[in-house]
Parts: sequence; structure tokens; C-alpha cells
Amino acid sequence: MSVPGRIMTAEPEAVGEGPVQLTAEHAEWGRLDVTLDDLGCDRSWEEIHRVRGVELTCPECGGQVHARLSKLDTRHFYHRTKPPSCSLANESLEHHLLKLELVTCARAAGFQAELEVAAPTGEWRADVMVFGSDGTRLMALEAQLSPITVEDIAARTGLYERDGVRVCWFGFRPRPWVGTVPTLLVQAPEDRGQVWTVTAGLARLSTRPMSWSPVSTALSDAVSWMLTGQIVPHKPLSSARQVTAEDNGYEWAQGWTRSWNDVWRLWWTASTYAALDAECAREEAEARRRQQAEEEDAARRWAVEEEEKARKKAVKDQAYATFWGRTGLDQRQWKYFWALAELFLDRNLVFGAPDSRYGDGRPVYERGGPDGKQWTLVGVACPDPRRLRAWAEELPLLVASYRELDTLAGRAWAPFQVYVFDPDTGEMDQERVLPTE
Ligand SMILES: [Zn+2]
Repeated sequence: MSVPGRIMTAEPEAVGEGPVQLTAEHAEWGRLDVTLDDLGCDRSWEEIHRVRGVELTCPECGGQVHARLSKLDTRHFYHRTKPPSCSLANESLEHHLLKLELVTCARAAGFQAELEVAAPTGEWRADVMVFGSDGTRLMALEAQLSPITVEDIAARTGLYERDGVRVCWFGFRPRPWVGTVPTLLVQAPEDRGQVWTVTAGLARLSTRPMSWSPVSTALSDAVSWMLTGQIVPHKPLSSARQVTAEDNGYEWAQGWTRSWNDVWRLWWTASTYAALDAECAREEAEARRRQQAEEEDAARRWAVEEEEKARKKAVKDQAYATFWGRTGLDQRQWKYFWALAELFLDRNLVFGAPDSRYGDGRPVYERGGPDGKQWTLVGVACPDPRRLRAWAEELPLLVASYRELDTLAGRAWAPFQVYVFDPDTGEMDQERVLPTE
């Protein structure tokens, strides 16, 4: 599709004074678009310019418009009487230029594109509608230069989505709505020979560390990429949630408007970066799940260990209770018993907890070595006489009364070595008991 050279350049001086517009309606021919050689309806400029009897109306307000050339030969329409309520008649120059650039970019990318295309229901009117090769409405390019609330632009985006039409909103300056819907901020060329550029809204993802950084490009490239699906609007998924310029750490939208809460929630990026971001988000979620599982595991292990400790303590407490109950000794008597044993044997002794392996008696250790950490088993104190085993033949048995000595002697099947340390009388004795028969 060719574009007339005279209206290719969307530079301010090319348009001339006052509001101008690029589309009009003809009762029989339909929509006229002066940005196309055949006006989009197989007609020529000569058939409408300075031709008597041709009646053209404004697509927006229905008012009468005429074809006209500006001082610089730019084709356009103008309202014979300017209606105060017609948005096309009152469109600003920069809005007009941006629309012209957008339709030019779409056509340069090989797509059919039309200006001011309204929905059949009248619920929206796209500044530029781009069509697919089968004639379906593909994407709306909207020059959004007048103020609009975040809620309103979300609602308008929703209408396009409902109708299966993609949309991108183009602006010049940061506004609260910018980045809440698919957006590109653009800059007009400042000098002849320069091109329109994208200043914000397009980003790429780098890993290590994960970060989004802005991409600068010509507007024509960006429009071509979005129409061909090479870039997509993307809501960040992984932990990298901001677009930050590498050189100065400046974040998009931070402090751009009066509200510091403004954030870009989505931006355009290559579909490969969108996929990479999704993959990173999955990995991060997996790492979080793993860490949580490890923490829960550790908590479970800790609980099991605590339970085991408590169980062992209960067993030990029970063993002591049984020991004190069976021997009839109290703590004071035990201390005295201990002192007598150390005195008599002239050894540094330690008593273990009541131990079922030694008939519920308390193993007696001699403490030795350079720092007293070498314990040698040297006897068993106060074992249950009914539970003597082979160890009784090898280890000396320590008892707290002659009554216990007698009981042991009555049960001896081999010679036993027995010490008596009576805490009540202070008696100390060493006996060798023999089997009774
Ligand atoms: Zn109008």
C-alpha cells in the first residue's frame, strides 16, 4: 500500500494552522481517508477537492466538512462551521500528528490501517484501526493525549479486549494511567530527517541479576513488532518488577507524575523475554516451595527430637523413681553412700543413672585421665537382687546395708565381690559372698 509523499512527514510545519482532520464521510462512497492515494475508496483527491456538489460530513459530529490543501500542500478536511462539541474538529495538532504517524507506521509495516474506525455498536472509535490480512480488526492504535483516569482507560481497554481487538495507547508524557494498560510513550522528531522514537514502554529482561531495562527504538519498528507479535504487553511475573535504566538507576514512573504511587504494571517486551520471565518466576516459586518444605522438615525433625528427649527424660525419671522406691534411700543418704565409697576405695567415682542392663542398679565409674574425662566402669551400685546377670560375676557390687548384702548372698550362683557402705551407720565393709551350696 503506497502513501502519498506529500503527507508522509508528520512535522508540525507541514500541517499549517488550526484544527485539521484526515477523514470524512461521503453518502455513497463511504469513508474517505486523505492519507491514502485512492482515499481508501477508489476515488481521487481531484474528485473531492474544489468540486461543486460533493457533500462530505464529519464522521464524528455529522457536520459538513470540505477538502482543502494547507499552505504546505497537506491534504485535509475542515469543518465549515466549527462545532464546539466535535472531538475531531477540536483535536490538537500533536494528537493529529501522532495519529498520522501511527497510521503511516502500520501501513509501512505492510498492514491495512484506517483512521477513526468506530465499533458497530459505537462503543469505541479507534484513532487508527489495523486490519489483519483477512480483513478482521487486529489492533487499535490510540493517541491518548487528553487527560483520562486509570479507571476509564481500563474500561476502554476492556471493550477492545471483549471485541477481540488488541490495543496500544500512545502518549507523550507520563500520566497516572501510563503503564496501567499497554502503553508506549513517544517523542516527535525535533529536526527534519529524524524519526519518531519510543521513550518508554518497551523493555528487555537481563538475568544475573534479574532486571528490566528500557529499550529505545524508532516508533516505526515498535509498531511493526507489535503488529507482527514480536513484542507483547507483559505483566512482570518474577521478582524483577521495575524497569530501571542501567546508567542512572532511574525507574519508570517513579516521580513522573504527582503521585509517587504510580507504577508501570505492564510493558511491551519481546515474547522471548516474556517467556524467560515466566520461567524465572516458576523457578523462584519452586525455590520458595523448596525452602518452605525444608523449613517444615526442620521443624518436624526438631519436634521429633524434642519428643524423643522428653521420652528419654520420662524413662530416666521413672528409672530414678523406681530406684529410690526400691532402695528406700533419699538424696542425703545417697550423698553419704557416695562419700563412703570414695573414701574406702580411694577413687574419684561417678554414678550413672539406674540402668536396666545392670539390673536397674547404678553403674559406678572411676573418673581418670588428664582432665577426668576417662570413665572406667568399676562396679554396680544397688542392683535389684532378682535381676543379677553375668556382670555380677565380673563387677564389684556396692550396697547400702548388710540386709542387702544378705539378699545378694542368698542369690549368688558364683563368688561375688560386695562392698557395704551404710549411710546410716557409716559402716564400710568388703565381703566376698559365695553360693550357698
Ligand atoms: Zn466534526
